[in-house]
Amino acid sequence: MIIFYTIDKVKTLITSKKQQGKSIGFVPTMGALHNGHISLLNEAKQQTDYTVCSIFVNPTQFNNASDLTLYPKTPEKDIKLLEEAGCDMLYLPDVKDVYPEKDTRIFTFGLLDTLLEAAHRPGHFNGVAQVVSILLNGIQPSKAFFGSKDYQQVMVVKSLVEQLKLPVQIIECPIIREKDGLAMSSRNVRLSTEEREVASIIPKLMLLAREIAINKGVREAKAYIIKEVSKQPSMKLEYYEICDAVTLEPFEVISSHKRSIALIALFVGNVRLIDNLAIVETN
Ligand code: AMP
Repeated sequence: MIIFYTIDKVKTLITSKKQQGKSIGFVPTMGALHNGHISLLNEAKQQTDYTVCSIFVNPTQFNNASDLTLYPKTPEKDIKLLEEAGCDMLYLPDVKDVYPEKDTRIFTFGLLDTLLEAAHRPGHFNGVAQVVSILLNGIQPSKAFFGSKDYQQVMVVKSLVEQLKLPVQIIECPIIREKDGLAMSSRNVRLSTEEREVASIIPKLMLLAREIAINKGVREAKAYIIKEVSKQPSMKLEYYEICDAVTLEPFEVISSHKRSIALIALFVGNVRLIDNLAIVETN
């Protein structure tokens, strides 16, 4: 695996790969890599000829200064994991290489700007849009791979690509989970042993709430989540919503004709975690 620290070097090599007729698969990450990230790389390797991964903790998408400072950084381990997984190129820039000048662009995403993550993390998706547009413009991949763990983020990225008419296909990949069902996340390493144990109830609650939503209703499912989370002193719920899987409009009643998804965000101690689970999968 070749490692570049500047976009100019990345561009030169990618241009020559494209001249050889190779398709480019891109996996953007913030590092502290786990099997969720590697699953995106594996998918990129399946679908494209030459894979590029980036590791960059993007400051403009953090609305909370301590979350940025405490974001885990494990570069040596990440490089080893990527090498073992067969990644072709790693782009490992510093802030100056990504933002030679301050990015003042403002993006809008309609309903996606007001709901769920957007409501709880003001400015977050604007920062995501800034960095993703810079990376996609610089790397110019044929396909870019994103995890559906960050469900709303995938929708924002798809909208961004459409708005900017970028010639890239966005590929959404499934959530990879730990043995006990907890969605893999770089933030999981910040959980204490006790918090990690408490966090393992999140996927179980999501599954039970899905049954309640289907059999009794959305209000009952929400009430169940609120009640169960409040039993855990270290947990604090930000939201649990059941939404239209296409628009993210919150549902009060599930329809068997419309795809729906439950999305949750909560704190376990000081660590903010998100997860989601399909409720009705077919149209
Ligand atoms: P991050 O490093 O957290 O910004 O994530 C980089 C990419 O990996 C994003 O597209 C995430 O959605 C994806 N990702 C993170 N965790 C998982 C997971 N558990 N399963 C699948 N994809 C994931």
